[in-house]
Amino acid sequence: MGPSVPERQTLGRLKNMMPRSFALRGTGLFMLMLVMSSFSVITSVQASPTSLALAELDWQYHWGDLPFTESKPDLAAASSNWQTIEFPANPPGRDGRHYVWFKTVLPDVALSAPVIFVTSINLNVEVYLGDRIIYRFGQLDQDSKKAFKGWPWHQIALPEDFAGKPLYLRIYSDYTDIGLWGEAKLMERSDMLLHVISTGLHELIVAAFSLLVAFVTMVFALFRGTRQEFFYLGLFSLATAGVLIGENLAIQLVLPWPLIKTYLAAVSYFSMPIFIAMLLYYWLNGATGSRLLKLLAQLHLAYLVLAVALSISGFMNLAIFFPVFDALFVISLLIMIRVVLRISRQVNLSQQLVLGAFAVYAILLLLDMLVAHSFLPWVDFPIAIGGLVFALVLVVVSIHSYVQTNLAMEQLNLQLEERVSERTAELHAYAEAEQQRRIELERENQFIAELEKLNIDLQSCQSIDEAKILMRQRLGNVFKPARVHVSLDGEAINTLPDAQIRLQQLEGGSHVLASLTLETTDESLPRTQWEHFLRRASQRLTVTLGNIKLREDLQRYSFEDSLTGLRNRRFFDDALARDIQLAKRNQMPLSLLICDIDHFKHFNDEFGHDAGDAALQAVAETLQQYFRESDIPCRFGGEEFVVLMRDAVLEDAVAKAERLREAVQALDISYRDETLSHLTISIGVSSLSDADTDAETLLRQADQALYAAKQSGRNRVLSHHEKLKQSQAE
Ligand code: GH3
Ligand code: MG
Ligand code: MG
Repeated sequence: MGPSVPERQTLGRLKNMMPRSFALRGTGLFMLMLVMSSFSVITSVQASPTSLALAELDWQYHWGDLPFTESKPDLAAASSNWQTIEFPANPPGRDGRHYVWFKTVLPDVALSAPVIFVTSINLNVEVYLGDRIIYRFGQLDQDSKKAFKGWPWHQIALPEDFAGKPLYLRIYSDYTDIGLWGEAKLMERSDMLLHVISTGLHELIVAAFSLLVAFVTMVFALFRGTRQEFFYLGLFSLATAGVLIGENLAIQLVLPWPLIKTYLAAVSYFSMPIFIAMLLYYWLNGATGSRLLKLLAQLHLAYLVLAVALSISGFMNLAIFFPVFDALFVISLLIMIRVVLRISRQVNLSQQLVLGAFAVYAILLLLDMLVAHSFLPWVDFPIAIGGLVFALVLVVVSIHSYVQTNLAMEQLNLQLEERVSERTAELHAYAEAEQQRRIELERENQFIAELEKLNIDLQSCQSIDEAKILMRQRLGNVFKPARVHVSLDGEAINTLPDAQIRLQQLEGGSHVLASLTLETTDESLPRTQWEHFLRRASQRLTVTLGNIKLREDLQRYSFEDSLTGLRNRRFFDDALARDIQLAKRNQMPLSLLICDIDHFKHFNDEFGHDAGDAALQAVAETLQQYFRESDIPCRFGGEEFVVLMRDAVLEDAVAKAERLREAVQALDISYRDETLSHLTISIGVSSLSDADTDAETLLRQADQALYAAKQSGRNRVLSHHEKLKQSQAE
């Protein structure tokens, strides 16, 4: 048989709630196993207490205080006003009264150290065995201030001979409830202690676990910056722990300050809806209903502050804030459940888990409130399970979030590393390209500078031959450090040249002056770049060499006789003047021959003009073969030739002229494969005899000698000297 349903004071729902059958199976979590194992150990110790529930006794109550004489209650007074009641709590017809008396007769129970254990009493109490006071909690004197002292559990020690004695409870309460609450038992003191310790320890373990989780979660939130939700979750877990500690039975054995514990429980309990509302507000992130949630949080915060301030200042009783809070909390929970149902589909798995844990908690709290307000019969509610479930969910969610965040960080790290290495590679490539570009520019500048130097030097060359010598010496340097083979005038090369310098011939067509072949390159530039340099050089030098060639050609053609290939009269005039100067300065001899073909008019007439030309070429050829290189044979005009003989004295010149005359006489003149008649020449010779002789004189003297040779029968050599002797002889 159970006790009648006492009206419960609200905070009591959080007390004494761990059922003996408490067990959560199927989770592999170490923490839970630890909790479980400690439970089972304590549960086994707690077996078979000898006890008697106070509800089984016959109780009577009396509204209002009894008179006292000499600080002893006048128990006989108002004997007619006692009424029966099943349990010493909240008798009917209170009518605003603050004092009540309960009485019963203690039965005979075999106990060696008997105590009455009461979970809680509203609010202050004195216990009498007969008219002897045996227990007091709080102030009850009519005249004194009867402050709220908190809600501890009570152990009322009885003398051994309690059996059959009347027990009186004098109770004062300005709270909604008055009388005993929760368990009330007559029992062995040791059993009671065991009961208190085991029940308290269950809750303490959960509280410690919640505290740890709260701490870890908040540290987690701190280091994760944006994760406000973990901050609120941590605070909620902290509040859970606070309630469990504030209401813990075992702690009272060590720390006997019931009011402080009650404050701790109140602050923790009252702050719970603040954190839930803030969490949901954070999750809603400005969506519909978030303002309402913020308002709820603010309202609960205001209520918490008000309750603490008013009760500490002694203005109001802390106890009275509990039932009002319950009403507020129910409304808030209903609003929050509505919001949760609305958003449950939008949130992620972790958030759903947290919401699920809240839901479990909320259901337990609501059921407990129904019990507290007598809508359901009194039972031990496992509110600690709610805390435990919540803490475990928080652990799971935190680990999940930690893993997720770590994975994300790792991913981010990888991406960053990739980006950095990409960027580094880009910069590296850019730097390399710049370096390469710098080398290329340097090489190109060097190439251009060398090419220009060579080009300028080439421009001052008088002839292609001179230019070739320069090119052979210097062209290779232009391409350093690459090695280029330069072959001139079609020298044999094994491979196709990479570039050529061609000269246009006046006669038409072109002639390869130089072929450039790339032999080795260095690694600073690609081969194509070197080939490009070769082509550029060949283009540039072709122009310069073309100019040299043109100049050379022009020069040649202006001093050359086109028919015979000998130097012409203009050249001879220059050479004669220059050589006379040189000969005089160096005191060297110089002789001059003037040759005239005999009767050439007849020859022309006989064989034709073209045959005459051929004859002129044949004589010219003989002249060229006959004289050494330092002598200069020229066509003087018509069928006359002159030869300037450097370093030759008159006798040598005459002798040479004589051999020439003989050679011409012996010459077979052929034209169109037909041998024509022989030709003869007459030669006049003059020589530089004194310092006064000039070009004109020398020429005149030779001419006079020639004239004399003609006069004296032709086909002969006569020197000016001999001619003078002949004239003197005549
Ligand atoms: P002489 O023995 O006195 O020197 O008699 P010659 O006929 O050689 O002398 P002349 O001065 O009377 O004639 C020179 C001739 O040479 C006249 C001209 O037809 C010829 N002649 C001059 N220049 C050329 C030429 O370029 N080609 C040909 N085929 N004949 C030329
Ligand atoms: Mg003549
Ligand atoms: Mg002649």
